[in-house]
Amino acid sequence: MKSDGGTELLRLLHEHTGGEAPEDAAVPDLAAAGPEGRAARTALALREATASGGWTLLDHPMLALEVAGSPAYLEPDAVVVAPDGRWTVVEIKSFPMIDAAADPSKVGAAARQAAVYVLALERVAGLMGGAPGPADRVAHSVLLVCPKDFSNLPTASLVDVRKQLSVTRRQLARLTRIEEIADALLPGASFALDRSAPELTDTVESVPATYAPECLAACELAFHCRDRARSMDAVTALGRGLRAELGGLTSVGAVLDAARGRAGDAADPAVAALRRAAVLRAQALEGAAAGGAVCR
Ligand code: SF4
Repeated sequence: MKSDGGTELLRLLHEHTGGEAPEDAAVPDLAAAGPEGRAARTALALREATASGGWTLLDHPMLALEVAGSPAYLEPDAVVVAPDGRWTVVEIKSFPMIDAAADPSKVGAAARQAAVYVLALERVAGLMGGAPGPADRVAHSVLLVCPKDFSNLPTASLVDVRKQLSVTRRQLARLTRIEEIADALLPGASFALDRSAPELTDTVESVPATYAPECLAACELAFHCRDRARSMDAVTALGRGLRAELGGLTSVGAVLDAARGRAGDAADPAVAALRRAAVLRAQALEGAAAGGAVCR
């Protein structure tokens, strides 16, 4: 896609966005030392490309985005700067587009990923200043490039990521800042791997965690957090769905007490449902003992 100065990629973008026909595109060298250096080099290349008034292909640029008060570095497949100064994110994926349609879940994941790149580009555009503003400079539709049917020919589609942008903006704004997390740690706490196992364990245990079975597929601390949740009798270990339904009942003991009528407010819908379930269970067990049908 990016050989010959990205001719095919620019052709696909032009096919979907119109405007001036792409001719020779500039492909600036974005090499620099470290992610910070590469991000600065990318910002400079974007500025130069915008001023040039021609087509520019930025191959694997580096973008920085502040996440919870700390910079995260992101590397889109490409960003194209058009002669009118618009910046478009390009995502190249290996899943096929059959009859111009691709798997919606994969397109959704690509759109969420691309939305983060758009946010990072808007930050660069904001720092650049001048008109138009970041929201007009950076296209809110990204070019998704996929294999056409099952061939090795490329095809593309413009994907509107405005919805994903607003969701990501909201999520980033709600993230707890790293300074606040650090303030909650014990004095002298450290996660440095040269610390002893007991020291590291103490530090890990000083951080509040809400384990859920989903953690097993995503986090290296899953077994540790699961043991901790089980030792605390926490209902979170039984899954997020159940936790949401149990409301204020946070331990298995509290759930059993509520079900047996030893605790809990009968007006609480979770408590009422538990008591009803306990009655049904008792009836089923009585039925089984009497040789009747078992209600599971
Ligand atoms: S397993 Fe990981 S994600 Fe899950 S609660 Fe523990 S630290 Fe958090």
